[in-house]
Amino acid sequence: MTDYANVRLISHPVIRQMLAQARDRRTDREGFRRLVSQIAALLVYEMTRDHPEEVVDLQTPIGPATGHVLAAQITVVPILRAGLGMVDGILSLLPHVRIGHLGIYRDETTLEPVVYYNKLPPDVAATEVIVVDPMLATGGSCTAAVSVLKRVGVARIRLACLVAAPEGIARMAADHPDVLICTAAVDEGLDRNGYIVPGLGDAGERLFGTP
Ligand code: URA
Repeated sequence: MTDYANVRLISHPVIRQMLAQARDRRTDREGFRRLVSQIAALLVYEMTRDHPEEVVDLQTPIGPATGHVLAAQITVVPILRAGLGMVDGILSLLPHVRIGHLGIYRDETTLEPVVYYNKLPPDVAATEVIVVDPMLATGGSCTAAVSVLKRVGVARIRLACLVAAPEGIARMAADHPDVLICTAAVDEGLDRNGYIVPGLGDAGERLFGTP
């Protein structure tokens, strides 16, 4: 499935195999952490395929040469807490990027997302931002995160997730149609508890061992 205007399905045999292992309930915490991290790296590898580059002069041991460096600054913003599981993999490819953090929970009375932690680089508006969260479920946290980023002036925002639900995709399309969702899979939908079906369970719990 790719017929959502705001979704880029990043599908590859290697990613599909890793995602199958991550979905498998028999995968232990160590394996799950490794897979989330590796899939995140592969997603961002694809997402930076068209990234602007600069040509630089350098010297090899043999003589002068030119090389390429990524031109525009990238800020990665994990949504706490499951988004943290994606950061190390991304840093293994892009060790220079800044990391901003947004902590968001859902108020059980109003059902509205509440931003309880906000630590972004001061010049975040001058950078391209990749918001990371393994699961796009209802879309509440992701839309809230994007709203925070837009309020401080960020113009180019994309979302990287492992699994997206149609409900979250629709919410993002309604609230932030300009934000491209780059995901390894689009699943069937949400169950009555808000879990993605078939999904991969509670990503935060599987990463950190606490409910
Ligand atoms: N968050 C998760 O960790 N898993 C889901 O299925 C939905 C939201």
